Amino acid sequence: MPAAAPFNPEDIANAKYTERPVKEGITTKKLICAACDIACTVVGEVQKGRVTKVRSSDNPIFRDNICMKGIIAPKGLAHPNRILHPMKRVGERGSGEWEQVSWEDALSDIGTRLKKVIADHGPEAWAVSTSQWNTSTDHGLGRRIMNHVGSPNWISGVALCAGNTAAVNRFTYGWFPFGDFGNTKCIVLMGHNPRRHSWTPLYNSIRGAQAKGAKLIVMDPRRSSSAERADIWLPLKVGSDAAMMFGWLKVIIDEELYDKEFVKNWTIGFEDLKKRVDEFPLERVAKLTGCDPEMIAEAARVYATSGPAVIPWTPITDMQRNSTSGIRLQTILRSICGNVDVPGGELLQGFNPDIINESEIEMHEVLSDEQKMKQLGSKDHPAFTYRGQLPFREPTKRVYGQEYANLVMGCHMATPSETFKAMAGEGDYPVKAFFFLGNNPLLSYANMPLIEKAMMNQDLIVAHEQFMTPSAQLADYVLPADSWLERPWLHDMFGWMSTVRFSEKAMDPPGECRSTFEFWKGIAGALDRSELVPWDTLEDFYDYRVARTGMTWDELVKTEVHFKKPAFRTYEKNGFATPSGKVELKSSILEDLGFDPLPYFREDPPKDENYPLMMFTGVREDGFFQTGHRHIPEMRARHPEPEIYLNEKTAKTAGVTEGEWVTVENQLGKIKAKLAIKDAMPDDLVRVPHGWWKPEMQQGSGHLSGALDYGDSQLCRDDADFLDREQGIPHIKGIPCRVVPLVAEAPASKPAEVTRPVMEPAE
Ligand code: SF4
Repeated sequence: MPAAAPFNPEDIANAKYTERPVKEGITTKKLICAACDIACTVVGEVQKGRVTKVRSSDNPIFRDNICMKGIIAPKGLAHPNRILHPMKRVGERGSGEWEQVSWEDALSDIGTRLKKVIADHGPEAWAVSTSQWNTSTDHGLGRRIMNHVGSPNWISGVALCAGNTAAVNRFTYGWFPFGDFGNTKCIVLMGHNPRRHSWTPLYNSIRGAQAKGAKLIVMDPRRSSSAERADIWLPLKVGSDAAMMFGWLKVIIDEELYDKEFVKNWTIGFEDLKKRVDEFPLERVAKLTGCDPEMIAEAARVYATSGPAVIPWTPITDMQRNSTSGIRLQTILRSICGNVDVPGGELLQGFNPDIINESEIEMHEVLSDEQKMKQLGSKDHPAFTYRGQLPFREPTKRVYGQEYANLVMGCHMATPSETFKAMAGEGDYPVKAFFFLGNNPLLSYANMPLIEKAMMNQDLIVAHEQFMTPSAQLADYVLPADSWLERPWLHDMFGWMSTVRFSEKAMDPPGECRSTFEFWKGIAGALDRSELVPWDTLEDFYDYRVARTGMTWDELVKTEVHFKKPAFRTYEKNGFATPSGKVELKSSILEDLGFDPLPYFREDPPKDENYPLMMFTGVREDGFFQTGHRHIPEMRARHPEPEIYLNEKTAKTAGVTEGEWVTVENQLGKIKAKLAIKDAMPDDLVRVPHGWWKPEMQQGSGHLSGALDYGDSQLCRDDADFLDREQGIPHIKGIPCRVVPLVAEAPASKPAEVTRPVMEPAE
């Protein structure tokens, strides 16, 4: 999620400060860190053309916003293993045999082969996957080219992390709101656990709000560090978020704690909602969540009465079998308690009218309806696909001035599981060319065995990467990518907010590394469609995007922020961007798509006694972002090995002990990890860390640098019981598994010599 900024960004622009002095020979650049998804404003110190230090901003608004990943970035990106030249596969796919080629030769061959795939199988046979965070977004250019060529099959990790949440928020009130942390009186964290070195600005915002008296409610099975700081901690059963929110709504509606005026004037479906909520008396909710009914009621009362309150986006509710209902229930709580579009609550900001936004650049209007309906996943799981999002065209134009809003890049996506099935030859039609940028698909989505099969079945795979990830090892071409230190960035808050922030270019990229802009410009040329990216440089492109401000990119980048004045209750003028113009507690679009228009709760499938424990995955450790940073010694010193957490009682029952290597197994696969005993974990719950591989281990098929040993996506199922119905995204918060001692072999690599730092409770 983007860094929490003051609700009135004028505070940033007007902040009084003096820049810290630097030694002779050093210059500074104002940067936005893209080492994770939160985009802190930082300062780069440049000496002899290289960034030698990243430090926190001088601006008091941002001064505390930096973590160890940002600080270590210059060293991590200067690592000798960085890919500096285009590499072409010469042996079998995954053989690990490469030859260095020129960009021109690579692009020419890629263009010829991609055109052949399109001629043989249709444009939909080309799929692209990105992690927009790692690339600092591809500016919408990838979607633009795909839309013109005719492929709707673009996927991203945002399918199960924020992007899907944004798409589902639209069903209720047409946009994705962001919290006013500076003025809020109550914050609800649903499993989310921002820390000093992870989601740092959010951590700072929450601490700041608490210092000003805001209440903190945390729902989390673990006694996390946020739970320890909370006024109320609800240790709910893993994956029961939606049930918990039904309990809150039951209390809030029964005790008439909601905003009656707002409900009467600005919502539809309240009576139907009430009936659905009545199916969840507190005794039932207590059973489903494992929490004390009185505590559930108390938390609901605090949320409803001590506001304005915020429920920030959480990377938890968007990864469950009840994700659509869970996200909808969050939107309903916000709405009926009067927290939408008010100071201290959550604001629907819309686009910044001065900037050409990425949704506009993407040009979704040129993709025919026929191709849109071919988007993989549309048929069965349409929520964030074109089919689910097209009904917002008219309402979005009415309220926000344009038809397509690709919020957090999560609207109008194909579903990943259906895309990998098609790539593996198990879908409705073949996908035979796969590109990925700043993304490690084998480890980033559910069901690694399927993804590996899918990749082995491709005619053409192109990776744009900084390091030889397990996924890049299966590519035909690995093209060297630049980093956030080596290019400017117009950060539009991932399409979510109207505030726009700027990052200068601090140094030239090493070797032949190129930006996503240059990548897509090259691909457009290779497809004989140069007119689609007519700008010569990224700076020219930014000049085009900012022209309405009356300033050039060079002028604007010297400032820290460009914003539109915050406005509240904007719905009073144009209504909400839904078909009815109201907050749709009962969703007309979900109903038209053939789904239950009200939230509901699916209980866990029957237990398999061979897998008595529940695991959750998706957790990232402080030193890493997603599957990255494993090559940096300072980060590995903090996390030398993948660790699972159990409490003492569960470990004893499983017959495993602290520090021992174990396997975690389920019906899909198994991984190895070291066991750490944490008393902050509840009984029978296993924490599995996300995205593990070891760059020092053997590359290529059969090894994939340890991804086959440690990658958690080997345990993430995507069969019907473990998929959210409306979105088709996997349930990774509550997967049955077992933990057994690893007896067959020793750990696969020698861990670095390290001193273990003291860890926080149970992250
Ligand atoms: S939290 Fe750390 S890694 Fe993320 S943007 Fe901020 S400094 Fe960079």
